[in-house]
Amino acid sequence: MHEEIRHPCVQHKLALIRDISTGHKQFRELATEITMFVCYEALKSISVKDVEVETPLETAKCYKISEDIVVVPILRAGVGMLEGILSLVPSARVGFVGLYRDEVTKEPVTYYQRLPEQANGGLCILVDPMLATGGSTVAAIDILKEAGARKVVVVCIVTCPEGLQRVEDAHPDVPIFVASIDRGLDENKYIVPGLGDAGDRLYGTR
Ligand code: URA
Repeated sequence: MHEEIRHPCVQHKLALIRDISTGHKQFRELATEITMFVCYEALKSISVKDVEVETPLETAKCYKISEDIVVVPILRAGVGMLEGILSLVPSARVGFVGLYRDEVTKEPVTYYQRLPEQANGGLCILVDPMLATGGSTVAAIDILKEAGARKVVVVCIVTCPEGLQRVEDAHPDVPIFVASIDRGLDENKYIVPGLGDAGDRLYGTR
């Protein structure tokens, strides 16, 4: 299952973040804002518990989120989405997964992994701005499932049909929420039209 968030506010921000003339400061702000919108949708079926709250007038029946949430950015670009998600679910815990692509096998290799124990049995939100070939996303979901995640949801900013297909083939139970499904991948495995290298644009390294 995947869902593209077609809301005009998201699409407007996508037009800005794609623009080559958008600098790293604005790029970071836009990544945070887009992430909030996409994550808002991704969390629509999260479990809640009944609570009673005393208003100044009477007792109100209310709801509070009842699940352990673990946000897991894939290093390094995924960190650019952390602030947006944590502003929605400030009590979420944070884990990290670092992967690089082996030059020979072209397969993702894990170089860093640190997850809170609540990943075991909790809801893990995996974040990476660009779901391109899907290789790292599949590998990161494998890691989260091995750690005992009860449910995994992927939140990204831009993806393409090839990446979606690969992740959905490997993990059909994992929903993917994204601001845009672009045309495809170029010969360097960049998403087109995309927004370029998200890590470089977030951190001003190019
Ligand atoms: N990673 C990026 O940062 N951009 C792409 O287009 C693909 C992968």
